[in-house]
Amino acid sequence: MELKLTRRDFLKSMTMVGISAMLINKADILKALAQAKDYWHICWLNGASCSGCEVSFAQNADPDIVEILTSMTVGESGLPIALPDYMQVIHPTSGSLAMEFIEVWKKASEKRKILIVVGSVQNPGFCEIGGKDFRDLLIETSKVADYIIAFGSCSSFGGIPGAKGNVTGAKGVSDFLKEVGIRKTVINLPRCPGHPDSLVSTLASVMVGVIPMLDNYGRPVDFFGMNMHSELCPYRPFYDRGIFITKPGEYPTSGDGCRYKIGCKGPIAYTDCALRKWNNRVSYCLEVGAPCLSCSEKEFPDGDTSPFWKELPGLPLILNAPVEVWGSGLVAAAAAGCAIHFARKKIKKKEE
Ligand code: SF4
Ligand code: SF4
Repeated sequence: MELKLTRRDFLKSMTMVGISAMLINKADILKALAQAKDYWHICWLNGASCSGCEVSFAQNADPDIVEILTSMTVGESGLPIALPDYMQVIHPTSGSLAMEFIEVWKKASEKRKILIVVGSVQNPGFCEIGGKDFRDLLIETSKVADYIIAFGSCSSFGGIPGAKGNVTGAKGVSDFLKEVGIRKTVINLPRCPGHPDSLVSTLASVMVGVIPMLDNYGRPVDFFGMNMHSELCPYRPFYDRGIFITKPGEYPTSGDGCRYKIGCKGPIAYTDCALRKWNNRVSYCLEVGAPCLSCSEKEFPDGDTSPFWKELPGLPLILNAPVEVWGSGLVAAAAAGCAIHFARKKIKKKEE
């Protein structure tokens, strides 16, 4: 039986906060896009970045990149969902010819222009595209864009190029636009690199006329509305019992443990990585024995997210006792309980 997804259903699921919305899949996206009336024009700019976000986007699995660029078409346009008019990383042309495509994009019909930015915005002189300062390019394109999406931590909040000590003044797109007096909503899709699902779902969402519900940092709550440590982490039971990995790669005798002591910043991370995972939902940072660095957060890689591999200051107390005390107490209590149960069972058997 064919599942019918109306535009209303899609809008409802995209604006809902919850697991069902977060797991929106290719079938839902396809059905929604079939209802988008027109082709959207995308301009994809890169500021200070490592291009890891493009590599991550290229690894989108459901739908995969080939489907996105060929068979997933918008409405009756016959044109693919995310074939940018201009994308400097993989543009087939170069030089002035490539730069002309930005002008073509700028003239595309109103209410049909999406600007995707990867990479942070640096002070004048540090980043030029086609002989133009990146800041000027961003101002020109932001002014005419109907939607602006910052994909990855660098364009969302400054990311690694904006780390403490950088001399380039690198910052995120929304901070830069505020600075130059452009008041436009920027949809921030942080993480380092950005997760492809977040971009594809957000594109599909704006193409059918829905702005995702955003948190105080401009992040869609569908992807960034839940705390890793309190709500999603499968290693939380180890934390509650005080069982920790204390060295990378060395697991406790119990088999596994919480990554807190090797610097897991899950308690301050609002991200759905534990649920969504990476690389076609195979795994994610904690699952390969590494800590979460909290790359979803505005302060990454500074503030409480720093230094990496060092635990957050102050393990939260439970009834004024550190979690290890409760953990060892619980383990001891559980062991004592088992021993009593075993002894009772033995006595009963003897009596029988
Ligand atoms: S500290 Fe990290 S590994 Fe441990 S429970 Fe919290 S999120 Fe999970
Ligand atoms: S698990 Fe943490 S460090 Fe890894 S991608 Fe997600 S937010 Fe970033």
